[in-house]
Amino acid sequence: MQKQKFVIWLCVTIIATTAIYLSEAIRLKSEPVIAPSTEAKKVAITFDDGPNPDYTPDLLKGLKERGVSATFFLLGKEVEKYPELVEQMYAEGHLIGTHSYEHVNLCNLTDEKAIEQVDKTNTLIEKITGERPQFIRPPFGCWKKNLDYKTTMMEVLWDVDPLDWKTSNSDAVVSRVLKNVEEGDIILLHDASESSVNAAFKIIDELKKEGYTFVTVDEILFD
Ligand SMILES: [Zn+2]
Repeated sequence: MQKQKFVIWLCVTIIATTAIYLSEAIRLKSEPVIAPSTEAKKVAITFDDGPNPDYTPDLLKGLKERGVSATFFLLGKEVEKYPELVEQMYAEGHLIGTHSYEHVNLCNLTDEKAIEQVDKTNTLIEKITGERPQFIRPPFGCWKKNLDYKTTMMEVLWDVDPLDWKTSNSDAVVSRVLKNVEEGDIILLHDASESSVNAAFKIIDELKKEGYTFVTVDEILFD
């Protein structure tokens, strides 16, 4: 009798335990899994038209102080004049791209002339850094698609353009960017004036407070 009771008790216990286990498993399975996001919001800050002996050194100093990596689209004719600034950019971890040799609209040139503008600049940069640029920001945003293949360059445009070159009011530039920027955006600025450099620092400080992380454009494009 005792043995029978024990067997019944054992069966009930096993069934009850299994039922509890199964119901818990079903509950866990049916609940959506909301993992806390550990991915930081990425944004890229880019500077065209340099290197500029008057503004690029201050910009590099401020970027270094903030631990920010930026992307520079350089003009070949300025690279030729200020190679030490290009060397510094590269050494400090910034990504270097091409912006043509002399700031021409590449769409108005023959393919041959446009390729010359790109290749000449790439060769100058490669001589300094040892690395041939892969990215081009064409002046005026105009790039003929067949040149992707002919130059093996990847075109990089922008998402946020505060027209910093048109004003000396850095606060206006900052507010235009902060109003429009979203995760994964590429911000366009120029290291060609004091107000642009100051705007860049304010933008970085503000967006960092909002949880953004600054990356180079390759990290946005290949994400
Ligand atoms: Zn430009």
